[in-house]
Order: sequence, then C-alpha cells, then structure tokens
Amino acid sequence: MPRKTPSPLDAPPLDRRIATGLHKLGLALKHQTWSQASADGLSPTQGQILAILAVDGALSASEVAARLGIGLPTISEAVTTLTDKRLVRRAPDQRHPRARLLRLTAAGSRLSARTRAWPEFLTHAVRSLSDAEQATLLTALMKMIRTLQEQGQIPISRMCATCTHFRPRVRSGATPHHCAFVDAPMGSQHLRLDCDDHEPAPEDQQRIAWARFASAV
Ligand code: SF4
Repeated sequence: MPRKTPSPLDAPPLDRRIATGLHKLGLALKHQTWSQASADGLSPTQGQILAILAVDGALSASEVAARLGIGLPTISEAVTTLTDKRLVRRAPDQRHPRARLLRLTAAGSRLSARTRAWPEFLTHAVRSLSDAEQATLLTALMKMIRTLQEQGQIPISRMCATCTHFRPRVRSGATPHHCAFVDAPMGSQHLRLDCDDHEPAPEDQQRIAWARFASAV
C-alpha cells in the first residue's frame, strides 16, 4: 500500500505547537542569560539576585528565594559569593531583630543596572507585535502564569489577577477593568504581572474576580 505523504497541515495540535514555541523562547532566554552573566563575571542566580534587590530594595534571603522560586540553600550560596565580591551587604532587619536584610553596595547597584537588562532582547522581539497583539499576549500570559501558580510550578506573581485592588469587567469599552489602588480604569494593555502596589486578595475574592476576568477574554 503506498505511503501517504504527510501534509504540512497534519501538524501537532495547536497547544503542543504553542508549548514548543514557548520552550524555544525559554531556551533563548537561558542561553542569553548564561552568556551575559558570564560576561559580567556572575552566575545567572547571582545576576537575578542583584536585579531583584535593585527593583524591590532590601530583602531577606527567604524573600529573595520566594520571589525567584529558587531554594534557600542556592540563594544563600550565591549571596555568600556576592558579599565576598562586595556587591551585596547584610544589614539589620528592623522587623526582626535577629534577622538580616540583603542590600546592594554601590558596586552592586552599578552592576545591577546591567543584570536587569539581561531579558531586554525579548522586549525587542515583543515590540515587533502590534499593540493589539501585545495586549492579547499579556492577557494570555497572565492566564498561563495563574495556572502554573495554582499548580505550584512557578513563584507567586504580584499580578492584577490576584490583587485585592483589581476590579475586572466593571464597564464596557476599551478599559473594562479598574484598579482601585489608583482609582483608574484599565484596559488589557495596562494589566500588571509584577506590581509594587499589589496586595494579595483573599482566596474567595481572587476566585470570583478571576471567573469574571477569564470569562470576558
Ligand atoms: S495595585 Fe497593581 S496589581 Fe493591584 S490592581 Fe492596581 S495595577 Fe494591578
């Protein structure tokens, strides 16, 4: 019996192809991070610690571990190297007299400006999308991140979908959502994945808000 020639349209299911695309982006990010970290004389974890301290200010080692989704022993080891290099210093934590906070030194602060730019090559690629495509992608990413958070596969993200100030779908039009923190309307393009003003909503509120948000997109 003659073999049927495969058609290019007999592709794997769409979900598998999207997962493959995301995997390729992940590999590119990993490769870029390793090469830039090595050029800066750091490991990727050390670079991520400098970046997070630059953005969020002084944090305990446990807080850094939770934000990055990396185990505390790995963070402690990287912090020891960073303190040896005089890029990070330990300072008293006013909240807990016996605990210590990690702070950037002046040299660490200078180097963090570079490590924060490591994922910048992805930003250039995102800019090739139209505004509408970017807004759709942002919403889709938020949905994927929430699913992965629920499965415990990535750290909790400070995004609108889990914030006590988020009011999804309260009006029609281009800005259907509302941020009660700044009392301002929001469209899909305004949604935040890592907001400094985020306050986790109680679970019930999160569930109701998510059902309303997800059913409308
Ligand atoms: S405070 Fe931040 S995370 Fe919360 S709804 Fe407003 S923009 Fe979103």
